[in-house]
Amino acid sequence: MAEALQSSLNNMLESNDSAKAEKTVPDGVETAISLVNFTGNDIEEPPFKKLRTNAHDRSLSFEDRIRPILSCCICLDLSTLSLFQCPNGHLMCSACFHHLVADCMLKDQESACPNCRCKISRRNCTRNLAVEKIISELPTTCAYCTHTCPRCEIKYHESETCPERPTVCEYSLLGCDWIGPSHCLTSHMTSCEYPKKTGQQLLDTIRIRKQKYDAEKTYLETALDLLLIHEIDANDISLTPMHTDDFSAKLYFETSHFKALECEWKVRVCINDHTSHPHTTSTRWLSYQLVLESNISETIKLKFFISKGPYSNLPALKFQPIISHFEFNENNTETEYIKLPISSLECNQILSSSSMKFRFWIIREISTASL
Ligand SMILES: [Zn+2]
Ligand SMILES: [Zn+2]
Ligand SMILES: [Zn+2]
Ligand SMILES: [Zn+2]
Repeated sequence: MAEALQSSLNNMLESNDSAKAEKTVPDGVETAISLVNFTGNDIEEPPFKKLRTNAHDRSLSFEDRIRPILSCCICLDLSTLSLFQCPNGHLMCSACFHHLVADCMLKDQESACPNCRCKISRRNCTRNLAVEKIISELPTTCAYCTHTCPRCEIKYHESETCPERPTVCEYSLLGCDWIGPSHCLTSHMTSCEYPKKTGQQLLDTIRIRKQKYDAEKTYLETALDLLLIHEIDANDISLTPMHTDDFSAKLYFETSHFKALECEWKVRVCINDHTSHPHTTSTRWLSYQLVLESNISETIKLKFFISKGPYSNLPALKFQPIISHFEFNENNTETEYIKLPISSLECNQILSSSSMKFRFWIIREISTASL
């Protein structure tokens, strides 16, 4: 055991010496390496050891050596997303960072950097734009051909210029479902039978398309009709974390009471349908319910939906509101939980942010015929 420790220490010293002896990395990058190499306690960090050893393996190319240095310290991948860093400079990709902070929030613990154990939060961690830019300049290979170019250019190549990129027939609008590499399109076009079809033969395709457009039009018209209704209320809600009184207390979020359409309401949000240990799951989702807090004597028929509000601290979050309806009466004061149409990553971003803010819309249903 002692021998193993001694030999690993020797290896570390050797790799440090060889790094000093052979200075081939540019100055700016070396600063990045020394920042990433800063650590409070080397002995307890095996994944980090692996990264540093690879980074000093002189038989590898410069790109292959720089890759582990710029990688996320949790998933060890080069991120295509934003990169965050702890106050000591350890890098985490956006997905891992938000998952980690959300995990700790769900466990009611303070989140710590996996490398140096310093406290991390959305407030004290910043993006590292320099490393994001360096990663975008590293070479990568096209998903369809052997072409290699900087990461920041690969999207354009794969979608616009790659001869192997999947392409649809120009008559796909008329129903041709041919998909093939871009360089085969010209030969397909000469043999495609769709331009020769009669109107009668194309009618089914056109009918299906029309149904789809009609459904979208109806959705937009319904949304517009709702906005023209007199009895509509929009509230900017802010949810705070709470715990149930059960034996194993579960975390959920709740607003304070708010007034809409002359009644008092609150909104509750739960994680993964109230499963017992949401921090052990890799996929997360949020659901909400509307709760009537006033006493009523008559049934109230409502339409309601949740949308991103103007005070959300997640500017990139986008989701299409789903309109629900419910009949409230004195015995029925809580709606079912309704799943928010957001991804697991967005869910973690919401959970890891300091506050959960949405805009909540409540519309009184006057009569079913008028909506
Ligand atoms: Zn990661
Ligand atoms: Zn750290
Ligand atoms: Zn290509
Ligand atoms: Zn075709």
